[in-house]
Amino acid sequence: MQQAEIGLIGLGVMGSNLALNIAEKGNRIAVFNRTPARTDEFLGEAGDLAGQIIGCHTIEEFVAAIRPPRPIIIMIKAGEAVDQQMAALLPHLAKNDIMIDAGNANFRDTVARFEKLAGTDVTFIGMGVSGGEEGARHGPSIMVGGTEESWKRVEPVLTSIAAKFNDEPCVAWLGTDGAGHFVKTIHNGIEYADMQMIAEIYGILRDGLKMSAAEIGDIFGQWNKGRLNSYLIEITEKVLKATDPETGKAMVDVIVDSAGQKGTGKWSAIEAQNLAVAASGIEAAVAGRVLSSLREERIAAEKLFGLPGLPEAPKDKAAFIADLENALLAAKIAAYAQGFAVMSSASEEFNWSLPMPTIANIWRAGCIIRSQFLDEITAAFTKDPDVANLVVTPAFAAMVKETDGALRRVVAHPVLSGLPVPALASALSYFDTYRRSGNGHPLEGEPARRFRLSRLRLA
Ligand code: NAP
Repeated sequence: MQQAEIGLIGLGVMGSNLALNIAEKGNRIAVFNRTPARTDEFLGEAGDLAGQIIGCHTIEEFVAAIRPPRPIIIMIKAGEAVDQQMAALLPHLAKNDIMIDAGNANFRDTVARFEKLAGTDVTFIGMGVSGGEEGARHGPSIMVGGTEESWKRVEPVLTSIAAKFNDEPCVAWLGTDGAGHFVKTIHNGIEYADMQMIAEIYGILRDGLKMSAAEIGDIFGQWNKGRLNSYLIEITEKVLKATDPETGKAMVDVIVDSAGQKGTGKWSAIEAQNLAVAASGIEAAVAGRVLSSLREERIAAEKLFGLPGLPEAPKDKAAFIADLENALLAAKIAAYAQGFAVMSSASEEFNWSLPMPTIANIWRAGCIIRSQFLDEITAAFTKDPDVANLVVTPAFAAMVKETDGALRRVVAHPVLSGLPVPALASALSYFDTYRRSGNGHPLEGEPARRFRLSRLRLA
């Protein structure tokens, strides 16, 4: 039987969709799942693509089905399960075979796995995959970390399955060991901030302007035709217009307002702190989710404190809604600037040479934060790859100058009304702090001394 070009372990939501995508692009693939019944079920669901897929029930069968050197994608539950799976696989592999962890790993675990495999003949790739189920099936954004040699082995198949933006594949080799998983983590941190800011704008429209979910959905639909055009704004419209079939009410009004989290947002905030980079938008988003999960406490606190009386709604509603659009854009700039600043600092700290224009490039399609805006970030970083902060690039500086007044007016209204806007307010504070020189006029002839906080030992 003709051997497979690649193997995949883990036929859960992401793994099964990724395997179908790989097969659909003409690559022969061998698959294995811990529970063998799932492999049979998967083959049954694969339809015409089943001919491209070799279903295996044992690790031995699976390894023998792949052409050496074997690239093997492990797409299972992150954490200990990955270490267990790697340990079970290792004795069956040969020189130059490549284990690829494609789950949402903490990049520190990825670095440790590289170190663990260093004395063996087997190599490792830490690969961030974004786009959820749909992305995995039809084209995700893929962030690769590992040796350049192992990247070359998997490049053709990954290029064939990645999302395309203007025919350019949204996959890239970003550096050694944990680079791919680090960039995926920051992607998710930015995604947290993006979603938190959208939720805050929704809250202002619902509680401040007393608009219905469907009316707010229309506003997001309008915004999706403009500069905020993005997947998250597009699905916000859809979510707000969805109705609950049981009650006939807007779906968003019957969902319990208590968010969970899996960890990547929190890791982004932790790594930003470790690197001494201000990422207040991402931190606010993580804290927002934590507070949202304390539903019982929030209900009790509302009974204790009550809610502040709402001041009058803005007189010119249309002008205020236009301000909301610009405020969201300004706040988004702050969140992305922070995310890229974290990656820039990590690149230096971990010797990765992370290519900022390439990262923006491969986030333009396939991933959850895909947007028109990322095309503008790509252009800004391509012109000036070593710029200190996205906000000072000419294109983004012009956008900030145009929109920060709207952000200020928008933040002022909910602050006076007692509506929570932690991420929007943090974005405003970020700009206001970043652009203020303070005592930044050193004595003549004496250069200001700079310290990196991470280099200082604080008691
Ligand atoms: P899932 O649907 O819950 O599937 C989990 C898979 O892991 C199953 O194939 C399961 O096998 C396998 N597994 C669990 N524990 C195992 C162990 N100890 N040893 C071997 N196999 C084990 O998960 P998923 O949503 O596909 O997520 C997979 C990875 O992708 C995770 O790291 C996740 O964070 C990441 N990810 C998910 C998304 C998303 O939108 N879902 C997006 C990007 C990244 P059994 O069938 O035997 O239980």
